Amino acid sequence: MYEPGEGDPGEARARRQAERIRAAVVAAYAGAPRMAERLRECGLVPEAAGGLSSACSPPAPRLLPDLSAGRSLGGEMRRDPSAGGIESLRRLPILRKDALPAAQGRALPFGGLLGAPPSTLRRIYISPGPIYDPEPRRGDYWGLAPALHAAGFRRGDIVLVTFAFHLTPAGHMMDGALDILGCVTVPGGTGNTDVQARALADLRVTGVIGTPSFVFALLERAKQLGGEPAVEVALVSGEYLTTALRRRACEEFGIRVTQAYATADVGVIAYECPAARGLHVSDRVAVEVVDPETGRPAGVGAPGEVVVSLLEPPYALLRFGTGDLAAWEEGECPCGRTAPRLAGILGRVGDAVKIRGLFVHPSEADRVVLTFPEVVRYQIAVTRPGPLDEARLFLELRPGADAAAVCAAVASAVHERLRLRMVVEAAPAGAIGEGAPRISDRRDWR
Ligand SMILES: [Zn+2]
Repeated sequence: MYEPGEGDPGEARARRQAERIRAAVVAAYAGAPRMAERLRECGLVPEAAGGLSSACSPPAPRLLPDLSAGRSLGGEMRRDPSAGGIESLRRLPILRKDALPAAQGRALPFGGLLGAPPSTLRRIYISPGPIYDPEPRRGDYWGLAPALHAAGFRRGDIVLVTFAFHLTPAGHMMDGALDILGCVTVPGGTGNTDVQARALADLRVTGVIGTPSFVFALLERAKQLGGEPAVEVALVSGEYLTTALRRRACEEFGIRVTQAYATADVGVIAYECPAARGLHVSDRVAVEVVDPETGRPAGVGAPGEVVVSLLEPPYALLRFGTGDLAAWEEGECPCGRTAPRLAGILGRVGDAVKIRGLFVHPSEADRVVLTFPEVVRYQIAVTRPGPLDEARLFLELRPGADAAAVCAAVASAVHERLRLRMVVEAAPAGAIGEGAPRISDRRDWR
């Protein structure tokens, strides 16, 4: 492990997080006027003695996941993994990412959320929106070093970074952490595939960083150009990494691929360990997974929006709604890290459809249904003939497929992995158009 705290027992971790939340609130009050106002509006004030208290009601009770939505967890009630101080912040309204450009516009450049003068920063980035992202002058500010270490990057590695080094922070995020780990950065940036593919072999690059699709394109191009890549490890982010792609990287190129979840606003939120059984939440943030409609904790296993509180003053980004959809992973991780794990990023909240109280994202459905080689295309039709939603899953199958057997197998996979019962039936060839939505919401809300 990179940091001793990564293996701390749960109680020590919760105490540390509660202390960091308190410090972030105190810092917001001291220097970030807009966040101080938001905190004051909902009655959250830092006590002089050092605690965080609510001005108008007793402290919130420890919250249990809301299981009323119907997702069975084997009958056992499990505590929300985000607990550890964050419940004290739950009354603070979520600050949504898509509201950030307007908020910044009202008080340029950082919307009254930065508790330090811009002149003290190391860099300022411009993300789409536009959103101005501050980078304070601090070692591994973005928290990438533990993620890169968990991915196997070590001192002396020559690392090609294929994220952008202009406007947005991804390239510099990686560079700062690689420097701390003692790795050599090759700032490749985006595009220039041939130049980078050649450099991969010429420089004996041992580590690559980028989106899964670009990293693969590079490796394949390097092979076509006759080079012999010596890459051993890759850290990917920004896109979903399929199991098939990870396996191919290992079998075809002998590369260990690991994922990290980071955003331009916050930096690292969670990262995979060698066990690759979910992404451990970084110590620098407090993460909640909430039902996007009610704002209540989604509970273990149920998808919801990732809400992040950055515990790295001076940027007072508390209860920041990322718009990303994820679910908590269950159980302990064999790697020894004790931080809770996200099962992976399932997509954007806006694309998800709520069926019988559960958010289902098309990419999540893809991962379940399209693993069956007999399935060409599918569509989930959601209707509400009575008081309850009804979901029917239509499958377009390859010629010669055993329709009854495939439908039964898909129904059981959907029940197990999406935790929804659906009627699954074969559709005639061509019935589902190529551009048809994977989830068709036919409920009439009038
Ligand atoms: Zn682990």
